[in-house]
Amino acid sequence: GPIIENGFYYDFDLGEDSFAPEDLKKIQKEMKKIIGGGQKFEQFSLPIKEAKEKLKDNLYKIEMIEDLEKEGEKEISFYKNINAKGEDVFVDMCRGPHLESTKEVGAFKLDKVAGAYWRGDEKNKMLQRIYGLAFEKKEELDDYLKLIEEAEKRDHKKLGKELELFSFHDVGAGFPFFKPKGVVVWNQLMKYWREAHDKAGYSEVKTPVILSRELWEKSGHWDNYRENMYTTKIDDHDYAIKPMNCPGGMLLYKEGQYSYRDLPLRWAEIGLDHRHELSGTLNGLFRARAFWQDDAHIFMRTDQIKEEIFGVLKLADEIYSAFGLSYHLELSTRPEKSIGTDEAWEKATKGLQDALDEYGQGYELNEGDGAFYGPKIDIHVKDALGRTWQCATIQLDMNLPERFDLNYVNEKGEDVRPVMIHRVIFGSVERFFGILVEHFAGAFPLWLSPEQVRVLPVSEKFDEYAKEVNDKLVAAGLRSKLDNESESLNKRIRNAEKSKLPYILVIGEKEQADKTVAVRKRKEGDLGAQQLDKFIKQLEKENKERIN
Ligand code: ZN
Repeated sequence: GPIIENGFYYDFDLGEDSFAPEDLKKIQKEMKKIIGGGQKFEQFSLPIKEAKEKLKDNLYKIEMIEDLEKEGEKEISFYKNINAKGEDVFVDMCRGPHLESTKEVGAFKLDKVAGAYWRGDEKNKMLQRIYGLAFEKKEELDDYLKLIEEAEKRDHKKLGKELELFSFHDVGAGFPFFKPKGVVVWNQLMKYWREAHDKAGYSEVKTPVILSRELWEKSGHWDNYRENMYTTKIDDHDYAIKPMNCPGGMLLYKEGQYSYRDLPLRWAEIGLDHRHELSGTLNGLFRARAFWQDDAHIFMRTDQIKEEIFGVLKLADEIYSAFGLSYHLELSTRPEKSIGTDEAWEKATKGLQDALDEYGQGYELNEGDGAFYGPKIDIHVKDALGRTWQCATIQLDMNLPERFDLNYVNEKGEDVRPVMIHRVIFGSVERFFGILVEHFAGAFPLWLSPEQVRVLPVSEKFDEYAKEVNDKLVAAGLRSKLDNESESLNKRIRNAEKSKLPYILVIGEKEQADKTVAVRKRKEGDLGAQQLDKFIKQLEKENKERIN
């Protein structure tokens, strides 16, 4: 097995057997013993034939050697362990490099076992894979273990269930259901998104979810993306459920006639896409088979590339900042296999680079990593745990305008092709939702919270004033609920805290007499009594300004 981020893995064929958690402890103990023994590592090479002879009992390694042979290798690299007595105790094929001695091994922990198909192919045999964590220092391993523990606490699938945000059912693996509380958060996200896009000069369009085969042939999806698409028949004719919103957007553009003065057109579409993902790769909202994309297609002249890219970067910055997410940028350039002229690629890439330079945040360059139809910028956001997620992509496309024969009329009265951008900022709204659940650990800021305030009368004597308080909050457009159930006040406070809502108001004798509320704020605790009207004003401001 190779090294991976934060550690390594090794695959075993145990026949019908599998490892139990106790086995990992035993193996780990043995590893520590070997490390303590200070075994030396020594490299040597064997010609292909002898290498095969040496590993003749290991079908898997023979297969690897044969592959290396096909790649033109003449010799195979091995490492052996030599113990303190100078005896060879273990030999394995390995490209290396290795440490000089096991004594130099730092902190490690065998982490988990998982099934893994040989070479990742489900037609092959399922092997047992042991994952290990490895760091230079014990503190680094401990920090990492803490991070994992915190990430598990924040797992959006777990919190989604506890906070009644969304669910999944056996009748549709990978198709999320959103519950009333989840939809409140969703709608707040979209409301904010629409406000930001209105300000940035976008219009919104909607295109159908099911369209006929001919359209997907024209767009190239039928030939190149078919295995990810769900299809159906209508009146005996082939149709596909859209995996992307682009072709519909192209048709809308084609309906009109545009002059150079009409461009750019910024058409956003919150579109429901379906993509077939292998069942083993589904992961809550992070990888689903149905998701909404916050798409937009921008049709423009070549001389507008820089300005439009700059505009998308600014919009993405504004939107991520609203959630307290930082980010970094990556530019991917022309791959080996690509369509379009050298000149078009140069102009497009320069447009992106100029926009990035002017933007001044710095960026990583991924040479040759662009799409075959154009260069792109990816934005990776960083959450509260320091984990990064690729969300936004801004792709220039020189292919679809060609395939769909899109035109506009230039200054000289000639028909010319527009350049277009595909861009998303959330990416998949479901996935972004999941990222936010983990980023905030389920404790959404006031403006996103499904329930913003809960009003708790100390006893039924104060129900009437508590109801008045709740009504006033609701009338002010705040999501407030009255909890005057017969449970004890402490129990009701605990319930409210478990729901992670931002404010709890306790109403008793004194509050009723003074027309105040006793405020408990999430994380900050008891803030004491406040005038009701003043409290409402302050919440309205916090809500409206979307303060995190
Ligand atoms: Zn698109």
